[in-house]
Amino acid sequence: AIDIRNMNKWYGTYHALRDINLTVARGERIVICGPSGSGKSTMIRCINALEDHQSGSITVDGTRLSSDLRNIDRIRSEVGMCFQHFNLFPHLTILENCTLAPVWVRKIPFEEAEDIAVHYLDKVGVLDQAGKYPGQLSGGQQQRVAIARSLCMKPRIMLFDEPTSALDPEMIKEVLDTMLQLAQEGMTMLCVTHEMGFAREVADRVVFMDMGQIMEENAPEAFFEAPRNDRTRLFLGQVL
Ligand code: ATP
Ligand code: MG
Repeated sequence: AIDIRNMNKWYGTYHALRDINLTVARGERIVICGPSGSGKSTMIRCINALEDHQSGSITVDGTRLSSDLRNIDRIRSEVGMCFQHFNLFPHLTILENCTLAPVWVRKIPFEEAEDIAVHYLDKVGVLDQAGKYPGQLSGGQQQRVAIARSLCMKPRIMLFDEPTSALDPEMIKEVLDTMLQLAQEGMTMLCVTHEMGFAREVADRVVFMDMGQIMEENAPEAFFEAPRNDRTRLFLGQVL
């Protein structure tokens, strides 16, 4: 579903991503971890062209990311994204947050978009909040709304960038459970997270990044039990 080859990214003169190679098959779940500043968010943002890259290639479901805006639109319409800060529209209700893009971008009739929104809000367990505004919800509820809002666009791939790191501990589980459910339904997922329990349970592969490079990539058992790289060991020593 995603194929990244020899991809390099600079911010000005700063070499943020170095020769990234990563393939994600349909239905695969990848967890990305690594120290602060290692390039995890940058990589996620490159995949749906929130950031550009300077060399190498990124292909999503056969569409190569290039400066061609049609390709960017096509890829964004297949890829849902969920951030640390939920970025809900504060002046719209929960239901309106979920129907906005389907109606205006996907041109889905309003009634149908509402039915879809109700379905996904119910699925993530916040349907009873549909008439409220984001500021009236807990952090965990807002994050689940953010996930539901992405799902309303019927993405084939979901990218998560530390979706639980801004949440109080008691709310982390409800968001991880929602992600777990998505994974069990076969969603292709790329998740930046330091929740190593989630990685063990859900990931097909864990990717460790440091200094803009992928240093190690392995199935969770091997990754946690027998990390090959010194930096991976050091990192795991800090987060486990
Ligand atoms: P964290 O765990 O703290 O979220 P990260 O692994 O997601 O870290 P990135 O946000 O991808 O790291 O940043 C990678 C590097 O690129 C950092 O050194 C950062 O300072 C730099 N960087 C990120 N965004 C920009 C930007 N817009 N302009 C210049 N440098 C940037
Ligand atoms: Mg980040």
